[in-house]
Amino acid sequence: MTASHVAGGAKPLQFGRLAPLLWTYLRPQGPRVLLLAASLIASVGLQLVAPQMTSRFIDLVVSLAAAAPQNRLLLLAVLFIAATLATQLVRLAGAYLSAQVGWTAANRLRDDLARHCLALDMSFHNARTPGELIERIDGDVSSLASVFSQFVFQILGSGLLMIGILAVLTAQNLWIGLTLTVFAAAAFAILHATRRLGMPLFAAERQARSELAGFVEERIGGLDDVRANGGGGHVMLGLERLNTRLTTTGVRAIRVAAIYIVLITNAVFITGFGVALSLGVWLFQHREATIGQVYLLVQFTAMLRAPLETIGGQIQDLQRTMASLGRVQDLQAMTPRVQSGPGAAWRRPSPQVEFDDVGFAYNDAEPVLADISFRLEPGQSLGLLGRTGSGKTTITRLLCRLYDPTFGVIRLDGHDLREAELGELRHHVGVVTQDVQIFQASVRDNLTFFDLDIPDARLLPVLQDLGLGPWLDRQSDGLDTVLLGGGGLSAGEAQLLAFARVFLKNPGLLLLDEASSRLDPVSEGLINHALEQLLGLGLGGGRRTAIIVAHRLSTVRRVDRIMILERGRIVEEGRREALEADPSSRFAALLRAGLEEVLA
Ligand code: ATP
Ligand code: MG
Repeated sequence: MTASHVAGGAKPLQFGRLAPLLWTYLRPQGPRVLLLAASLIASVGLQLVAPQMTSRFIDLVVSLAAAAPQNRLLLLAVLFIAATLATQLVRLAGAYLSAQVGWTAANRLRDDLARHCLALDMSFHNARTPGELIERIDGDVSSLASVFSQFVFQILGSGLLMIGILAVLTAQNLWIGLTLTVFAAAAFAILHATRRLGMPLFAAERQARSELAGFVEERIGGLDDVRANGGGGHVMLGLERLNTRLTTTGVRAIRVAAIYIVLITNAVFITGFGVALSLGVWLFQHREATIGQVYLLVQFTAMLRAPLETIGGQIQDLQRTMASLGRVQDLQAMTPRVQSGPGAAWRRPSPQVEFDDVGFAYNDAEPVLADISFRLEPGQSLGLLGRTGSGKTTITRLLCRLYDPTFGVIRLDGHDLREAELGELRHHVGVVTQDVQIFQASVRDNLTFFDLDIPDARLLPVLQDLGLGPWLDRQSDGLDTVLLGGGGLSAGEAQLLAFARVFLKNPGLLLLDEASSRLDPVSEGLINHALEQLLGLGLGGGRRTAIIVAHRLSTVRRVDRIMILERGRIVEEGRREALEADPSSRFAALLRAGLEEVLA
């Protein structure tokens, strides 16, 4: 009693949360939803009508045993068949409509959510694993999809059917109606309580299953390390342990499902039958009901089972869905800190870049950058040096506004970066990240980022210019060769592909985070050649403004200015030639010592 009271108390609140979502995603499908409602009502009506015809039929046969009017009987039989057929057709149409409404709504929600997540800050993404987001956008939305379709169709349909059955029976005989109403309420309470009994066991089984999946995923992900370190035995032992747990929890859950739930459910409905039958016999003997009405009573009692079970099951689903809904709504409520600006004029092909006393901290923790001030004139390139963790990559992230500075201002052509419209800014800034992402897609799609407007005639010369021609010739299907995400490309090749992407984009500002891994001399030669190409502007001549996080001597030899970072602060900045010529400079010392040894 207490439990159902609590559930009852929580429900209005939950529906309150659900309503706006239903409204947002069902409203655009208005006519279809109305049709669905109509089919629902029609289906319930037809289900109630058919047994009443059988009941009439029986009564007619019994009362007029000798001289039964053939044509009336025939008419009833035909109507019965028509009603049954129509029930099936309407149900089919309803199921189709509800699936369509449900999936259309869910797909819209999934779209909205994915777009929303893409716009959220990097700090949001850093704090979450890809698996978690997949679970939100796919798992939770799928479970909401069932609310959109099944909830409406099944709970409302079942509820209507149940009310209809009880109403028809009450209209025929008050006592029958009352008895069956009491039975339905008791059955519902008992079934609900039994299900609750099994819930923790099913939850334990699901938990064991997800732990096993997580374990396998992580170990397969780390296969190289596991093998190399001879950790196979340990992994198998862990697998064994989780497997055993899954088996025990699974068996326990099935035992409860089989014994208690099936047994109790059957017991409840057999009791219901017994009550209905006894009541029917008693009423018939006391001439309170005809044999046809007794048939109707028994038939309707049997028909109560399906809606009772459905509603019970759906309520359980609904509870799970409410958890999904809560998570989805929390996600929707998040707003990105980095907001697009109104748009600032971009005066030149290559912008002037200025950092004015910039400071930055990830997640409001220790500052990663402090007092960063420097200026790059249009077309100048800056070589950024510093030990690992000194904040080089962070500077490039601030420039394409993956984060905004905590202090200070970054300006492009004199305009605060925050004024720029995000899409436009990223259109003008080309980025090659430290570890290049290759997607599982064709070479063409990897280069164009799925932009179908870029013709092959533009791709091929770029690949040739960057020295990827021989590489492309080795690919079995040329531009159509499907690359395996991440695998199958050397670090140098991946970097060259990323250069090609930037080339096609032709941005005015280039941010290049050199891979810190060492390259073989041939790849290094190719990269240097490609870099030289990349720094020159495509059409207008001149050069791109560029910030290059450099790890190699040959790269720093190419740039106009040098900046050395140490623990997020600038320790040296100036024209490369001047620093090179000054034997007391850090840069000159780095060159003397060989860059890599010192910076590693
Ligand atoms: P490397 O040469 O190894 O690439 P880096 O100079 O590029 O190093 P950054 O990646 O800019 O270094 O990192 C600077 C500091 O910020 C490091 O201490 C790092 O731990 C921290 N950091 C980097 N990325 C994040 C992040 N997403 N969240 C929190 N802290 C971060
Ligand atoms: Mg870095």
